[in-house]
Amino acid sequence: MDVRKLREDFPLLSKGIIYLDSAATSLKPRQVVEAMREYYEDYTENVHRGLSRLARRATEEYEGAREQVAKLIGARPEDLAFTPGTTASINMVAQGLSWKEGDVVVATLMEHHSNLLPWMRLGELRGVRLKLVGIDEEGRLDLRSLEEALGPRTRLLAISHASNVTGVVNDVRRAARAAHDAGALVLVDGAQSVPHMPVDVEALGADFVAFSAHKMLGPTGIGALYVSERARAELAPGWLGGGIVREVSVDGYRLLDFPYSMEPGTPNIAGAIGFGAAARYLRGIGMESVLEHERSMVRLALRELEGIEGLRILGPRSGDRLGIFSLELKGLGPDELAARLDEEFGIVVRSGYHCAQPLHERLGSRGTARASLYLYNTEEEVRALADALRRISRELRGSIALI
Ligand code: PLP
Repeated sequence: MDVRKLREDFPLLSKGIIYLDSAATSLKPRQVVEAMREYYEDYTENVHRGLSRLARRATEEYEGAREQVAKLIGARPEDLAFTPGTTASINMVAQGLSWKEGDVVVATLMEHHSNLLPWMRLGELRGVRLKLVGIDEEGRLDLRSLEEALGPRTRLLAISHASNVTGVVNDVRRAARAAHDAGALVLVDGAQSVPHMPVDVEALGADFVAFSAHKMLGPTGIGALYVSERARAELAPGWLGGGIVREVSVDGYRLLDFPYSMEPGTPNIAGAIGFGAAARYLRGIGMESVLEHERSMVRLALRELEGIEGLRILGPRSGDRLGIFSLELKGLGPDELAARLDEEFGIVVRSGYHCAQPLHERLGSRGTARASLYLYNTEEEVRALADALRRISRELRGSIALI
């Protein structure tokens, strides 16, 4: 993978910034923008309905995009519905399964709010109980506790594949096996894993995998929900409307099969086409290479950040983890740290709880500045972050010493 070369595909990288906020949203290569421009300028039409050449082309490109995205996760196109994103995909599962009072959802303390609040709401509305499995001081999941939390009432295990705060990658395969043994379905929040590592839904043993295009070089407002064949019969669409029916009479309706049953109304056609272009771009590079680059950046970042006075990195120093570094610098709040990195060093990071407040609280943190890497980041950029943090830290220690 030639990082120097591929950086030329990302116009924002030539504008004098160091972009370290890909866990929030990634940059988009020209190829993605171009694919969307083509749809809008050359063949705008609705999909699945018209018979005109334009409509046929729009439908072909839309379905071609589904195929590209499906292939990236080892799925077939018929396994994958386009959705507005990870949050929407998870809510579609929460609303689309039938629940009984006393059903249990097992999730973990490291979940993003998008994989927590929908389950909390089920408690309010349907009497579903949410059990949260704990994590250790470094943010690693306690798999034994997870296995113990599963029981005969467990209807669903909802688990993130990779944490958006600590970068920890969970052993989802083992968790899924235990959940299936207990008779539960498995939902994997793949928002952070699918963009950064090879993911094979069959090997994971997931029933549902949710992910977003905008974190993997694609546009905002589009994502996907993979649903296994076994789980499909249990999932009903939460929204109904045009485009999802075989026939309708005054007495009722008959829905199309998945995935069309989950895509009522005019879909985000340009978004799907951009998503397809992003998946094609990533497949062109190869997810093994994407992960290998990330791992080498992680090793470098940990070496560089280690030893900066007053700096705390949430998450583990070793083991399976992605390039996400949530940082606290003694003497400076996360917002101020992020603002200084931006204004003085041109380094873009995000500050706050990153939609994972329970996780921060468990790790004794009141918010962090988060630097996150992707395939276009370089060793120099990682070193620039460490240098900037070192300088700010020295300055802070100096001013503290003066007081
Ligand atoms: N889950 C995880 C782990 C995330 O990092 C994010 C995004 O920050 C989400 C879910 C929600 O994704 P989206 O905002 O694209 O729906």
